[in-house]
Amino acid sequence: MEQALLLNATYEPLKVVNWQKAITLWCQGKVEVIAVHDREVRAVSVSFKLPSVIRLLRFVRIKRRYDYVPFSRANIYARDKHTCQYCSQTMSTGELTFDHVVPVAQGGRKDWENIVTCCVGCNRKKGGRTPAEARMRLRRAPRRPRSVPAARITIGLRNAPESWRDYLYWNVELDDG
Ligand SMILES: [Zn+2]
Repeated sequence: MEQALLLNATYEPLKVVNWQKAITLWCQGKVEVIAVHDREVRAVSVSFKLPSVIRLLRFVRIKRRYDYVPFSRANIYARDKHTCQYCSQTMSTGELTFDHVVPVAQGGRKDWENIVTCCVGCNRKKGGRTPAEARMRLRRAPRRPRSVPAARITIGLRNAPESWRDYLYWNVELDDG
């Protein structure tokens, strides 16, 4: 279903909302529609185009509480500054992967405290073992971040309509995976 990119009054992208939410915000007079999707939607007596980019009319100060940081690959990499948590090398996204500190097979969870950024080499070396078993040391214990370095919204590249491109800038990390 068509989604809309919600911008703050400053045009800073805030998040992606579904079309129902976009229409609701518009009906409440809280947003202006900046761009629409091509496809028309027909209701009983009217047809209209769903909004693809909407902008809040009043600036909203975003409290970046830790629980607002989405648990995503991009945000794990951001928390760890694109640095392998075992060999301390900083690398590009393509050379990095995840590591479950405590392997899933040993009951390791998929959460902020058990997933770290890891280079492909270290990941292979560690295999399905704990750091102690593999005699590898973590740079530091992984934690849930209070905030992401630059507020990031992760949007699947394939899901980002053309009309969003103008508004996706430095603080948006496009996730191609
Ligand atoms: Zn490494």
